[in-house]
Amino acid sequence: MSNAFYQPVSGMDLPRFAGVATFMRLPHVSPDDPRIGEVDIGLIGAPWDSGTTNRPGPRHAPRQLRDLSTMIRAQNGATGVRPFERANCADLGDVGPNPADVMDSLTRFTDFYSRVRRASVRPLTAGGDHLCSLPILRALAADGPLGMIHFDSHTDLFHSYFDGCMYTHGTPFRRAIEEGLLDPTRVVQIGIRGTTYDREDRDFADSVGVRVVPIEEFFARGIDDVMAEARQIVGDRPTYVSYDIDFVDPAFAPGTGTPEVGGPNSFEALEVVRALAGLDIAGADMVEVSPPFDPTGATAWLGVSIMFELLCMMVSADDA
Ligand code: MN
Ligand code: MN
Repeated sequence: MSNAFYQPVSGMDLPRFAGVATFMRLPHVSPDDPRIGEVDIGLIGAPWDSGTTNRPGPRHAPRQLRDLSTMIRAQNGATGVRPFERANCADLGDVGPNPADVMDSLTRFTDFYSRVRRASVRPLTAGGDHLCSLPILRALAADGPLGMIHFDSHTDLFHSYFDGCMYTHGTPFRRAIEEGLLDPTRVVQIGIRGTTYDREDRDFADSVGVRVVPIEEFFARGIDDVMAEARQIVGDRPTYVSYDIDFVDPAFAPGTGTPEVGGPNSFEALEVVRALAGLDIAGADMVEVSPPFDPTGATAWLGVSIMFELLCMMVSADDA
């Protein structure tokens, strides 16, 4: 049961367009605040896109996601879950990156998330491009490799870009597996599609035992069947959930750097998360929302709606 301090501001008390925008209208508790010891789940902005190889913009996403997140109400319409009553949730603010230095940013991220982890706070991150997940995993996997359920059009398992650049948003999970942060036999990637340069990523996945579910298989089998297999792959041990907004069809999520057509609709985008109930979720992220390509805010609205579903899954494990 959560403390009254951690209840979001209700739109019945202050209209949702008013007030300082924090994630889901939660209190802001920085990792330096003595209250951090009370927080169960921390919503964190990762305003960074220095890993982007093509169309940038996710550095601006946390601010737009915070704005649209003021639309979120306290109760899940589909499941009835009231996450803010089950756990102390807070907005921990943003990680401060160094936009001119990728390696320095990776260190800053890991330092920030290591502090969050030492305070026993589970992070729900609003990226940022997908390279964000690597330094987060470096902090969260300190006690051993995690499983991962990964929604994306892309595997992000490539070895390198541009003749040897190892750290881009197309390589984070290759590095995470090489560094022992993920157990590849407990990793499942769902929604993979689009044109590619080659099969180097897929060959790597096959060689280490990562399960890739291409979008054609996803639609042929259906959500229930695919997600039952995903749950079986990660099992009951700690699992990270990484959600790239480009998993969703660009008709519903056009505001992203690397859209791929032929994807799930916005209802399916929520349903796959609702299938995670009861898993031991060590942390989760929503990445690759790109406000410069999202002038209406529709992509960010879907992004924070998915974040709310992820949050409801994170608190459901607290009850178990
Ligand atoms: Mn990705
Ligand atoms: Mn992607």
